[in-house]
Amino acid sequence: GPSVLWFRRDLRLGDNPALAHAAEDGRDVLALFVLDDHLLGPSGAARRDVLFRSLTALDDQLGGRLMVVKGDPVAAVPAVAKAVGADAVHVSEDYGPYGRRRDDAVAEKVDLVRTGSPYAVSPGRIVKDDGEGFKVFTPFYRRWQDHGWRGPADTSASSASWIDPDDVSGGRKRVTIPTENTHADVEAGEKAALSSWADFRDDRASGYDDERDRPDKDSTSRMSVHLKYGTIHPRTMLADLASLKNDGSEAYRRELCFRDFYADILFRRPDSARENYDKRFDAIELDSGPHADELFQAWCDGKTGFPIVDAGMRQLVSENWMHNRVRMIVASFLVKDLHLPWWRGARFFLQHLMDGDIASNQHGWQWTAGTGTDASPYFRVFNPTTQGEKFDPNGDYVRRWVPELRGVDGKAVHALKNDRPEEYPEPIVDHKHEREEALRRFGALKS
Ligand code: FAD
Repeated sequence: GPSVLWFRRDLRLGDNPALAHAAEDGRDVLALFVLDDHLLGPSGAARRDVLFRSLTALDDQLGGRLMVVKGDPVAAVPAVAKAVGADAVHVSEDYGPYGRRRDDAVAEKVDLVRTGSPYAVSPGRIVKDDGEGFKVFTPFYRRWQDHGWRGPADTSASSASWIDPDDVSGGRKRVTIPTENTHADVEAGEKAALSSWADFRDDRASGYDDERDRPDKDSTSRMSVHLKYGTIHPRTMLADLASLKNDGSEAYRRELCFRDFYADILFRRPDSARENYDKRFDAIELDSGPHADELFQAWCDGKTGFPIVDAGMRQLVSENWMHNRVRMIVASFLVKDLHLPWWRGARFFLQHLMDGDIASNQHGWQWTAGTGTDASPYFRVFNPTTQGEKFDPNGDYVRRWVPELRGVDGKAVHALKNDRPEEYPEPIVDHKHEREEALRRFGALKS
Protein backbone atom coordinates (compact mmCIF):
# COMPACT_ATOMS: atom_id res chain seq x y z
CA GLY A 1 0.00 0.00 0.00
CA PRO A 2 0.92 3.66 -0.14
CA SER A 3 2.67 5.58 2.60
CA VAL A 4 2.47 9.03 4.12
CA LEU A 5 5.54 11.26 4.44
CA TRP A 6 4.71 13.67 7.23
CA PHE A 7 6.94 16.75 6.97
CA ARG A 8 7.67 18.74 10.12
CA ARG A 9 10.96 20.55 10.23
CA ASP A 10 12.68 18.76 7.34
CA LEU A 11 11.12 20.72 4.50
CA ARG A 12 13.26 19.46 1.65
CA LEU A 13 13.39 16.63 -0.85
CA GLY A 14 17.16 16.30 -1.24
CA ASP A 15 19.22 14.41 1.34
CA ASN A 16 16.07 13.11 3.01
CA PRO A 17 16.37 9.53 4.35
CA ALA A 18 12.74 9.51 5.53
CA LEU A 19 11.66 10.13 1.93
CA ALA A 20 13.85 7.26 0.71
CA HIS A 21 12.26 4.99 3.31
CA ALA A 22 8.69 6.10 2.56
CA ALA A 23 9.12 5.44 -1.17
CA GLU A 24 10.83 2.06 -0.80
CA ASP A 25 9.58 -0.71 -3.13
CA GLY A 26 7.99 1.86 -5.40
CA ARG A 27 5.24 2.79 -2.95
CA ASP A 28 3.08 5.81 -3.73
CA VAL A 29 3.64 8.60 -1.22
CA LEU A 30 1.36 11.30 0.12
CA ALA A 31 3.30 14.39 1.26
CA LEU A 32 1.63 15.84 4.36
CA PHE A 33 2.09 18.88 6.56
CA VAL A 34 -0.10 19.67 9.58
CA LEU A 35 -0.58 23.26 10.71
CA ASP A 36 -0.52 22.83 14.48
CA ASP A 37 -1.61 25.82 16.59
CA HIS A 38 0.40 24.56 19.50
CA LEU A 39 3.57 25.36 17.52
CA LEU A 40 2.31 28.21 15.36
CA GLY A 41 0.99 30.33 18.22
CA PRO A 42 4.22 31.00 20.09
CA SER A 43 6.30 31.13 16.89
CA GLY A 44 6.11 34.84 16.14
CA ALA A 45 5.19 36.29 12.75
CA ALA A 46 8.69 36.18 11.27
CA ARG A 47 9.15 32.49 11.96
CA ARG A 48 5.67 31.65 10.68
CA ASP A 49 6.43 33.66 7.57
CA VAL A 50 9.55 31.61 6.82
CA LEU A 51 7.65 28.41 7.55
CA PHE A 52 4.80 29.27 5.20
CA ARG A 53 7.14 30.30 2.41
CA SER A 54 9.22 27.13 2.91
CA LEU A 55 6.00 25.12 2.60
CA THR A 56 5.04 26.98 -0.56
CA ALA A 57 8.45 26.19 -2.05
CA LEU A 58 8.06 22.53 -1.13
CA ASP A 59 4.59 22.42 -2.64
CA ASP A 60 6.01 23.90 -5.88
CA GLN A 61 8.74 21.26 -5.98
CA LEU A 62 6.02 18.63 -5.62
CA GLY A 63 3.97 20.06 -8.46
CA GLY A 64 1.27 21.26 -6.05
CA ARG A 65 0.94 17.90 -4.32
CA LEU A 66 1.70 18.86 -0.73
CA MET A 67 -1.33 18.14 1.38
CA VAL A 68 -1.65 20.77 4.10
CA VAL A 69 -4.24 20.27 6.82
CA LYS A 70 -5.03 22.02 10.09
CA GLY A 71 -5.44 20.65 13.58
CA ASP A 72 -3.92 18.52 16.27
CA PRO A 73 -1.57 16.06 14.54
CA VAL A 74 -2.54 13.33 17.01
CA ALA A 75 -5.96 13.24 15.36
CA ALA A 76 -5.17 14.59 11.89
CA VAL A 77 -2.28 12.33 10.91
CA PRO A 78 -4.06 9.02 11.61
CA ALA A 79 -7.18 10.37 9.83
CA VAL A 80 -5.22 11.23 6.69
CA ALA A 81 -3.31 7.94 6.80
CA LYS A 82 -6.61 6.06 6.97
CA ALA A 83 -8.08 8.06 4.10
CA VAL A 84 -5.20 7.15 1.74
CA GLY A 85 -5.06 3.59 3.02
CA ALA A 86 -1.44 4.00 4.10
CA ASP A 87 0.40 1.21 5.88
CA ALA A 88 2.85 3.57 7.53
CA VAL A 89 3.58 7.21 8.27
CA HIS A 90 7.21 8.23 7.77
CA VAL A 91 8.94 11.07 9.56
CA SER A 92 12.32 12.48 10.36
CA GLU A 93 12.52 12.18 14.13
CA ASP A 94 11.77 15.16 16.37
CA TYR A 95 13.70 15.24 19.65
CA GLY A 96 12.15 18.33 21.26
CA PRO A 97 9.95 17.90 24.36
CA TYR A 98 6.66 18.68 22.59
CA GLY A 99 7.58 16.76 19.44
CA ARG A 100 8.39 13.63 21.40
CA ARG A 101 5.08 13.67 23.28
CA ARG A 102 3.16 14.32 20.06
CA ASP A 103 4.94 11.56 18.13
CA ASP A 104 4.47 9.00 20.89
CA ALA A 105 0.75 9.76 20.87
CA VAL A 106 0.56 9.45 17.06
CA ALA A 107 2.52 6.19 17.20
CA GLU A 108 -0.22 4.67 19.35
CA LYS A 109 -2.60 5.04 16.40
CA VAL A 110 -0.48 4.42 13.29
CA ASP A 111 2.76 2.72 12.36
CA LEU A 112 5.07 5.72 12.73
CA VAL A 113 8.45 5.08 11.10
CA ARG A 114 11.19 7.47 12.26
CA THR A 115 14.18 7.74 9.94
CA GLY A 116 16.97 10.22 10.53
CA SER A 117 16.65 13.54 12.33
CA PRO A 118 17.49 17.20 11.73
CA TYR A 119 20.96 16.59 13.20
CA ALA A 120 24.26 15.22 11.92
CA VAL A 121 24.26 12.82 14.85
CA SER A 122 20.88 12.28 16.50
CA PRO A 123 20.48 13.24 20.16
CA GLY A 124 21.28 10.45 22.61
CA ARG A 125 23.93 8.81 20.44
CA ILE A 126 27.07 10.54 21.72
CA VAL A 127 27.99 9.02 25.07
CA LYS A 128 30.94 8.80 27.42
CA ASP A 129 32.68 5.48 28.10
CA ASP A 130 30.29 4.88 30.98
CA GLY A 131 27.29 5.34 28.69
CA GLU A 132 26.27 8.70 30.15
CA GLY A 133 25.73 11.83 28.11
CA PHE A 134 28.16 14.74 28.05
CA LYS A 135 27.63 17.95 30.00
CA VAL A 136 30.62 19.76 28.54
CA PHE A 137 30.98 20.77 24.92
CA THR A 138 34.65 20.12 24.09
CA PRO A 139 34.70 16.39 24.94
CA PHE A 140 31.32 16.04 23.20
CA TYR A 141 32.86 17.65 20.13
CA ARG A 142 35.76 15.18 20.14
CA ARG A 143 33.41 12.20 20.46
CA TRP A 144 31.11 13.61 17.81
CA GLN A 145 33.95 13.83 15.31
CA ASP A 146 35.11 10.30 16.14
CA HIS A 147 31.53 9.03 15.81
CA GLY A 148 31.09 10.60 12.37
CA TRP A 149 27.91 10.86 10.34
CA ARG A 150 26.40 9.46 7.17
CA GLY A 151 26.97 11.00 3.77
CA PRO A 152 24.05 12.87 2.15
CA ALA A 153 21.15 10.65 1.09
CA ASP A 154 20.49 10.64 -2.65
CA THR A 155 16.86 11.70 -2.87
CA SER A 156 14.85 14.21 -4.90
CA ALA A 157 11.31 14.96 -6.06
CA SER A 158 11.54 12.02 -8.45
CA SER A 159 12.31 9.54 -5.64
CA ALA A 160 8.61 8.87 -5.20
CA SER A 161 5.41 8.85 -7.14
CA TRP A 162 3.40 11.46 -5.27
CA ILE A 163 -0.26 11.03 -4.52
CA ASP A 164 -2.42 13.97 -5.56
CA PRO A 165 -4.14 15.25 -2.38
CA ASP A 166 -7.19 16.14 -4.45
CA ASP A 167 -7.69 12.43 -5.06
CA VAL A 168 -7.82 11.72 -1.35
CA SER A 169 -11.36 11.66 -0.04
CA GLY A 170 -12.28 11.86 3.61
CA GLY A 171 -9.75 12.24 6.38
CA ARG A 172 -9.12 15.94 6.62
CA LYS A 173 -9.87 18.98 4.51
CA ARG A 174 -6.95 20.28 2.52
CA VAL A 175 -6.25 23.97 3.21
CA THR A 176 -4.23 26.52 1.30
CA ILE A 177 -0.86 27.46 2.76
CA PRO A 178 -1.34 30.61 4.84
CA THR A 179 0.71 33.75 4.41
CA GLU A 180 2.07 36.17 6.93
CA ASN A 181 2.72 39.80 6.21
CA THR A 182 6.20 40.51 7.48
CA HIS A 183 8.94 42.33 5.72
CA ALA A 184 11.31 39.36 5.96
CA ASP A 185 13.38 39.47 2.81
CA VAL A 186 15.12 36.18 3.43
CA GLU A 187 14.40 33.67 0.70
CA ALA A 188 12.90 30.44 1.92
CA GLY A 189 12.81 26.87 0.65
CA GLU A 190 15.31 24.22 -0.37
CA LYS A 191 16.61 25.97 -3.49
CA ALA A 192 17.28 29.17 -1.56
CA ALA A 193 18.98 27.21 1.23
CA LEU A 194 21.29 25.41 -1.18
CA SER A 195 22.20 28.58 -3.02
CA SER A 196 22.94 30.63 0.09
CA TRP A 197 25.01 27.75 1.40
CA ALA A 198 26.94 27.60 -1.89
CA ASP A 199 27.62 31.36 -1.71
CA PHE A 200 28.96 31.11 1.82
CA ARG A 201 30.99 27.97 1.09
CA ASP A 202 32.64 29.45 -1.96
CA ASP A 203 33.16 33.05 -0.86
CA ARG A 204 33.24 33.37 2.92
CA ALA A 205 33.86 29.99 4.58
CA SER A 206 37.65 30.27 4.43
CA GLY A 207 37.66 33.50 6.47
CA TYR A 208 34.98 32.32 8.91
CA ASP A 209 37.31 31.56 11.83
CA ASP A 210 38.84 35.06 11.79
CA GLU A 211 35.70 37.03 11.04
CA ARG A 212 32.82 35.22 12.69
CA ASP A 213 32.86 37.35 15.84
CA ARG A 214 32.48 40.64 13.96
CA PRO A 215 28.88 41.82 13.82
CA ASP A 216 29.90 44.75 11.62
CA LYS A 217 30.84 42.35 8.83
CA ASP A 218 28.63 39.98 6.90
CA SER A 219 30.90 37.13 7.89
CA THR A 220 28.60 34.38 9.13
CA SER A 221 26.50 32.10 6.96
CA ARG A 222 22.99 33.01 8.11
CA MET A 223 22.13 29.38 7.56
CA SER A 224 20.38 29.12 10.94
CA VAL A 225 17.00 29.91 9.44
CA HIS A 226 17.38 27.17 6.82
CA LEU A 227 18.59 24.69 9.42
CA LYS A 228 15.61 25.59 11.59
CA TYR A 229 13.17 24.33 8.97
CA GLY A 230 15.44 21.71 7.51
CA THR A 231 15.45 23.14 4.00
CA ILE A 232 19.05 21.92 4.10
CA HIS A 233 20.49 19.12 6.25
CA PRO A 234 23.79 19.58 8.13
CA ARG A 235 25.04 16.35 6.45
CA THR A 236 25.07 18.16 3.11
CA MET A 237 27.05 21.01 4.67
CA LEU A 238 29.47 18.74 6.52
CA ALA A 239 30.23 16.82 3.33
CA ASP A 240 31.18 20.08 1.62
CA LEU A 241 33.24 21.24 4.61
CA ALA A 242 35.22 18.00 4.60
CA SER A 243 36.47 18.79 1.13
CA LEU A 244 37.41 22.41 1.94
CA LYS A 245 39.95 21.59 4.65
CA ASN A 246 40.79 25.10 5.89
CA ASP A 247 40.61 26.77 9.30
CA GLY A 248 37.29 28.33 8.37
CA SER A 249 35.66 25.00 7.61
CA GLU A 250 37.04 23.54 10.84
CA ALA A 251 35.54 26.42 12.84
CA TYR A 252 32.22 26.08 11.05
CA ARG A 253 32.04 22.34 11.72
CA ARG A 254 32.46 23.13 15.41
CA GLU A 255 29.45 25.47 15.32
CA LEU A 256 27.31 22.82 13.65
CA CYS A 257 28.36 20.53 16.48
CA PHE A 258 27.11 23.11 18.99
CA ARG A 259 23.70 22.73 17.39
CA ASP A 260 23.85 18.94 17.85
CA PHE A 261 25.19 19.37 21.39
CA TYR A 262 22.34 21.57 22.58
CA ALA A 263 19.77 19.25 20.99
CA ASP A 264 21.41 16.37 22.88
CA ILE A 265 21.34 18.31 26.16
CA LEU A 266 17.67 19.20 25.72
CA PHE A 267 16.84 15.60 24.79
CA ARG A 268 18.42 14.35 28.01
CA ARG A 269 16.93 17.13 30.13
CA PRO A 270 13.60 18.23 28.60
CA ASP A 271 12.98 20.33 31.74
CA SER A 272 15.87 22.59 30.71
CA ALA A 273 13.62 24.24 28.12
CA ARG A 274 12.08 26.12 31.04
CA GLU A 275 14.19 25.54 34.11
CA ASN A 276 17.79 26.02 35.11
CA TYR A 277 19.98 23.23 33.79
CA ASP A 278 22.11 23.73 36.88
CA LYS A 279 19.62 23.48 39.73
CA ARG A 280 21.89 25.35 42.14
CA PHE A 281 20.75 28.54 40.41
CA ASP A 282 17.14 28.03 41.42
CA ALA A 283 18.07 29.88 44.61
CA ILE A 284 19.63 32.96 43.01
CA GLU A 285 18.04 36.31 43.74
CA LEU A 286 16.24 37.74 40.68
CA ASP A 287 14.42 41.02 40.28
CA SER A 288 10.70 41.44 39.53
CA GLY A 289 8.03 44.09 39.93
CA PRO A 290 7.28 47.38 38.16
CA HIS A 291 10.86 48.68 38.07
CA ALA A 292 12.15 45.36 36.72
CA ASP A 293 9.40 45.49 34.09
CA GLU A 294 10.52 48.95 33.03
CA LEU A 295 14.10 47.80 32.64
CA PHE A 296 12.94 44.78 30.67
CA GLN A 297 10.92 47.02 28.37
CA ALA A 298 13.93 49.28 27.74
CA TRP A 299 15.93 46.20 26.84
CA CYS A 300 13.23 44.97 24.43
CA ASP A 301 12.99 48.40 22.82
CA GLY A 302 16.75 48.82 22.39
CA LYS A 303 16.76 51.84 24.68
CA THR A 304 19.14 50.86 27.45
CA GLY A 305 21.67 53.59 26.65
CA PHE A 306 24.33 50.91 26.02
CA PRO A 307 25.02 51.21 22.28
CA ILE A 308 26.01 47.62 21.45
CA VAL A 309 23.04 46.26 23.44
CA ASP A 310 20.60 48.63 21.75
CA ALA A 311 22.02 47.89 18.30
CA GLY A 312 21.52 44.17 18.87
CA MET A 313 17.96 44.49 20.14
CA ARG A 314 17.00 46.73 17.26
CA GLN A 315 18.54 44.30 14.78
CA LEU A 316 16.50 41.53 16.41
CA VAL A 317 13.20 43.34 16.15
CA SER A 318 13.83 44.71 12.68
CA GLU A 319 15.67 41.88 10.94
CA ASN A 320 14.43 38.99 13.09
CA TRP A 321 18.01 37.80 13.40
CA MET A 322 20.93 38.85 15.54
CA HIS A 323 24.64 38.20 15.30
CA ASN A 324 25.86 35.50 17.71
CA ARG A 325 28.36 37.70 19.57
CA VAL A 326 25.67 40.31 20.13
CA ARG A 327 23.17 37.64 21.28
CA MET A 328 25.67 36.84 24.02
CA ILE A 329 26.18 40.51 24.92
CA VAL A 330 22.47 41.38 25.19
CA ALA A 331 21.73 38.15 27.06
CA SER A 332 24.50 38.79 29.55
CA PHE A 333 23.20 42.34 30.02
CA LEU A 334 19.68 41.12 30.80
CA VAL A 335 20.85 38.56 33.32
CA LYS A 336 23.84 40.22 34.96
CA ASP A 337 23.20 43.95 34.62
CA LEU A 338 19.42 43.89 34.98
CA HIS A 339 19.22 40.78 37.23
CA LEU A 340 16.24 39.43 35.31
CA PRO A 341 15.55 35.73 34.72
CA TRP A 342 17.07 34.34 31.54
CA TRP A 343 13.77 32.82 30.44
CA ARG A 344 12.18 36.26 30.07
CA GLY A 345 14.81 37.19 27.52
CA ALA A 346 14.67 33.76 25.91
CA ARG A 347 10.93 34.11 25.38
CA PHE A 348 11.35 37.50 23.73
CA PHE A 349 14.02 36.04 21.45
CA LEU A 350 11.71 33.19 20.41
CA GLN A 351 8.97 35.67 19.54
CA HIS A 352 11.26 37.56 17.21
CA LEU A 353 13.99 35.28 15.90
CA MET A 354 13.45 33.84 12.47
CA ASP A 355 15.77 30.99 13.48
CA GLY A 356 14.20 30.65 16.94
CA ASP A 357 14.90 27.13 18.11
CA ILE A 358 14.09 25.77 21.54
CA ALA A 359 17.36 23.85 22.02
CA SER A 360 19.84 26.43 20.69
CA ASN A 361 17.99 29.38 22.16
CA GLN A 362 17.31 28.13 25.67
CA HIS A 363 20.81 26.72 25.98
CA GLY A 364 22.44 29.76 24.38
CA TRP A 365 20.68 31.75 27.11
CA GLN A 366 21.57 29.34 29.88
CA TRP A 367 25.19 29.27 28.77
CA THR A 368 25.36 33.06 28.94
CA ALA A 369 23.51 33.17 32.26
CA GLY A 370 25.92 30.63 33.71
CA THR A 371 23.03 28.33 34.63
CA GLY A 372 23.65 25.91 31.77
CA THR A 373 26.43 23.73 30.41
CA ASP A 374 30.00 24.63 31.40
CA ALA A 375 32.33 27.29 30.11
CA SER A 376 30.77 30.60 31.09
CA PRO A 377 30.98 30.81 34.89
CA TYR A 378 28.44 33.09 36.47
CA PHE A 379 31.11 35.47 37.77
CA ARG A 380 32.34 36.28 34.26
CA VAL A 381 30.34 39.42 33.47
CA PHE A 382 30.51 40.92 29.98
CA ASN A 383 31.34 44.61 29.89
CA PRO A 384 29.13 45.97 27.09
CA THR A 385 31.50 48.85 26.36
CA THR A 386 34.69 46.84 25.94
CA GLN A 387 32.79 44.07 24.11
CA GLY A 388 31.58 46.69 21.67
CA GLU A 389 35.05 48.18 21.23
CA LYS A 390 36.55 44.78 20.64
CA PHE A 391 34.05 43.25 18.25
CA ASP A 392 32.69 46.34 16.50
CA PRO A 393 36.02 48.19 16.43
CA ASN A 394 34.94 50.98 14.09
CA GLY A 395 31.45 51.34 15.51
CA ASP A 396 29.85 50.57 12.15
CA TYR A 397 27.45 47.98 13.55
CA VAL A 398 26.15 50.38 16.18
CA ARG A 399 25.66 53.20 13.70
CA ARG A 400 23.82 50.87 11.31
CA TRP A 401 21.17 50.05 13.93
CA VAL A 402 21.09 53.13 16.15
CA PRO A 403 20.44 56.14 13.94
CA GLU A 404 20.69 58.55 16.89
CA LEU A 405 24.40 57.76 17.05
CA ARG A 406 25.25 58.25 13.39
CA GLY A 407 26.90 61.56 14.19
CA VAL A 408 29.48 59.96 16.47
CA ASP A 409 32.62 58.83 14.68
CA GLY A 410 34.58 55.59 14.96
CA LYS A 411 34.71 53.55 18.11
CA ALA A 412 33.86 56.52 20.32
CA VAL A 413 30.29 55.37 19.72
CA HIS A 414 30.77 52.64 22.34
CA ALA A 415 31.97 54.90 25.18
CA LEU A 416 29.81 58.01 24.92
CA LYS A 417 30.68 60.89 27.18
CA ASN A 418 29.92 64.52 26.41
CA ASP A 419 29.17 63.49 22.85
CA ARG A 420 26.07 61.49 23.89
CA PRO A 421 23.31 62.90 21.67
CA GLU A 422 20.32 64.27 23.50
CA GLU A 423 17.87 61.98 21.72
CA TYR A 424 19.80 58.87 22.82
CA PRO A 425 18.90 57.50 26.30
CA GLU A 426 21.19 57.77 29.30
CA PRO A 427 22.40 54.35 30.55
CA ILE A 428 19.54 52.74 32.48
CA VAL A 429 21.98 51.18 34.96
CA ASP A 430 25.55 51.69 36.11
CA HIS A 431 27.48 48.72 34.76
CA LYS A 432 30.21 48.77 37.40
CA HIS A 433 27.66 48.79 40.17
CA GLU A 434 25.49 46.05 38.65
CA ARG A 435 28.52 43.90 38.06
CA GLU A 436 29.30 44.03 41.78
CA GLU A 437 25.67 43.30 42.53
CA ALA A 438 25.70 40.24 40.24
CA LEU A 439 28.83 38.98 41.98
CA ARG A 440 27.26 39.58 45.38
CA ARG A 441 24.21 37.51 44.44
CA PHE A 442 26.43 34.78 43.09
CA GLY A 443 28.48 34.81 46.28
CA ALA A 444 25.31 34.53 48.38
CA LEU A 445 24.37 31.47 46.38
CA LYS A 446 27.66 29.76 47.06
CA SER A 447 27.67 30.23 50.80
P1 FAD B 1 27.02 30.83 11.71
O1 FAD B 1 28.08 31.51 12.51
O2 FAD B 1 27.17 30.90 10.24
O3 FAD B 1 26.98 29.34 12.22
C1 FAD B 1 26.58 28.26 11.40
C2 FAD B 1 25.53 27.42 12.07
O4 FAD B 1 26.06 26.79 13.23
C3 FAD B 1 24.34 28.23 12.55
O5 FAD B 1 23.42 28.43 11.52
C4 FAD B 1 23.81 27.34 13.66
O6 FAD B 1 23.00 26.31 13.15
C5 FAD B 1 25.06 26.73 14.24
N1 FAD B 1 25.48 27.50 15.41
C6 FAD B 1 26.37 28.53 15.42
N2 FAD B 1 26.56 28.96 16.69
C7 FAD B 1 25.77 28.21 17.48
C8 FAD B 1 25.53 28.18 18.88
N3 FAD B 1 26.14 29.00 19.73
N4 FAD B 1 24.62 27.29 19.35
C9 FAD B 1 23.99 26.44 18.52
N5 FAD B 1 24.19 26.42 17.18
C10 FAD B 1 25.07 27.28 16.67
N6 FAD B 1 20.72 29.62 17.15
C11 FAD B 1 19.61 29.19 16.54
O7 FAD B 1 19.67 28.54 15.50
N7 FAD B 1 18.37 29.46 17.07
C12 FAD B 1 18.21 30.20 18.20
O8 FAD B 1 17.09 30.42 18.64
C13 FAD B 1 19.39 30.68 18.85
N8 FAD B 1 19.29 31.44 19.98
C14 FAD B 1 20.44 31.87 20.60
C15 FAD B 1 20.34 32.62 21.78
C16 FAD B 1 21.48 33.07 22.44
C17 FAD B 1 21.35 33.88 23.73
C18 FAD B 1 22.76 32.77 21.92
C19 FAD B 1 24.00 33.24 22.61
C20 FAD B 1 22.86 32.01 20.75
C21 FAD B 1 21.72 31.57 20.07
N9 FAD B 1 21.80 30.81 18.88
C22 FAD B 1 20.66 30.36 18.28
C23 FAD B 1 23.12 30.40 18.33
C24 FAD B 1 23.72 31.37 17.28
O9 FAD B 1 23.68 32.68 17.77
C25 FAD B 1 23.01 31.32 15.93
O10 FAD B 1 22.90 29.97 15.50
C26 FAD B 1 23.75 32.08 14.87
O11 FAD B 1 23.94 33.42 15.25
C27 FAD B 1 23.00 32.00 13.55
O12 FAD B 1 23.62 32.77 12.55
P2 FAD B 1 24.44 32.08 11.38
O13 FAD B 1 23.64 31.01 10.74
O14 FAD B 1 24.96 33.17 10.51
O15 FAD B 1 25.62 31.42 12.20
